[in-house]
Amino acid sequence: LLMKFNWSAEVGRLILILVPCALLGLVAGSVAWMLILGFTIYLIWQVLQIHLLLTWLYAGKRKIPFNISGIWTDIYSAVHQLHNTNRKRKKKLSAMVKRFRESTAAMSDATVVLAPNGTIEWFNEAAKHLMGLQSPTDVGRRITHLIRDPRFSQYLMTKDYAESIDLRSPVDESLHLNLHIVPYGNKRRLLTVRDFTRIHQLEKVRRDFIANISHEMRTPLTVISGYLETMIDDGEANGDQEQTSKLRQMQDQSSRMRRIVDDLLNLSRLETSDRTTVELSEVSVSSFVRDIQAEVTMLSKTGLHQFVAEIDEDLWVLGSAKELYSAFSNLVGNAVRYSPQGGKVHVSWRHDDSGAYFVVEDHGVGIEAEHIERLTERFYRVNKDRSRNSGGTGLGLAIVKHVLQRHEAVLSIASNPGVGSTFTCEFPLHRVVHKRSAIEIANV
Ligand code: ADP
Repeated sequence: LLMKFNWSAEVGRLILILVPCALLGLVAGSVAWMLILGFTIYLIWQVLQIHLLLTWLYAGKRKIPFNISGIWTDIYSAVHQLHNTNRKRKKKLSAMVKRFRESTAAMSDATVVLAPNGTIEWFNEAAKHLMGLQSPTDVGRRITHLIRDPRFSQYLMTKDYAESIDLRSPVDESLHLNLHIVPYGNKRRLLTVRDFTRIHQLEKVRRDFIANISHEMRTPLTVISGYLETMIDDGEANGDQEQTSKLRQMQDQSSRMRRIVDDLLNLSRLETSDRTTVELSEVSVSSFVRDIQAEVTMLSKTGLHQFVAEIDEDLWVLGSAKELYSAFSNLVGNAVRYSPQGGKVHVSWRHDDSGAYFVVEDHGVGIEAEHIERLTERFYRVNKDRSRNSGGTGLGLAIVKHVLQRHEAVLSIASNPGVGSTFTCEFPLHRVVHKRSAIEIANV
């Protein structure tokens, strides 16, 4: 260590002061005092060096002063080296930050960095025109003061950022924005905002197109159906069997088309109406089940299916009666249509600590696992012929899925080919109420 640093020069300096002092002391007769004087001079000199070092540090000078020696040379060069590496690191870091800012600034998606308390730390160029953020005035402000939609505050608070939310831009109502938060680092959050106005418009055009075309087709279908009815009557009166059977087939096809058109219209209505506008009436599931049973028994023609219902009569759902009825009757209808005559259909409605469940279980044909995930897609059918022959439109489960989504419920499907299927609608507890049953109320 002694070799590495300039300690020898320091020792030399001390000797250079102390030896003359000692000699002077010998002459004057007080060696001790003279040595103390020598040490004091050395100490003063060192303090002076410390003072010089401090001045040098505060002045921020880069060059090492030339008039230093001994261990001080090492101290100065160590500080100088440290300073240099720091400077290089800083340069590298600021170049990196600059590159990052340049790339995010060039992005068409808005990016906002949020501090742990929800205030804005930084945002890019796109955030200015998509959300009207202003630099630098909005830095340090709460993001909820700038995006005032309660849905956004709720999204920010829940801390569940698995999904994104769609909002209108606070500066331009015609802009549709998709907002997504990604938590990162030390409780920071990155808010990314995408302009999906074009996709939104395309979606709207698609929905409107389906709604319009379905609507337009209704009238011609009614007319065709009406004429076919009359022609069948005429054919029967004339005893023309062949003609009548052909006309009947046409009649069947036109009613099938009518059902498809009706389902398409229902579906587009469900899609176009806002999820937040779903009505919140108290709906009695138990009275539904009786009506559905009657309807389905009539539909199954044979009426040979066995129904077992296990219904909690006092459990009501908050939602739209019309929509829920169509969802539940679709599920029960499917259970009948996809099970053999005499098959047992089990319907239950109950709740536990985590939710309320409407379950339809059949002992029918069942569904292979690979199809289950896709059943709720429009027109997805495992067996097209079977679906058609039993009067299916291929839209039933798509309607069920939409209705349930609008009621914050989820559909789960479990099935065993050849054994049967179970369709479960799970409602969150805040969507159900406990009330006296519909029958009891009617009897009072
Ligand atoms: P569809 O009008 O064809 O019944 P859905 O949307 O109601 O249309 O159902 C889609 C497909 O899911 C059906 O074609 C059928 O293959 C299958 N499926 C639905 N319910 C059942 C069930 N209970 N058992 C077996 N398969 C079913």
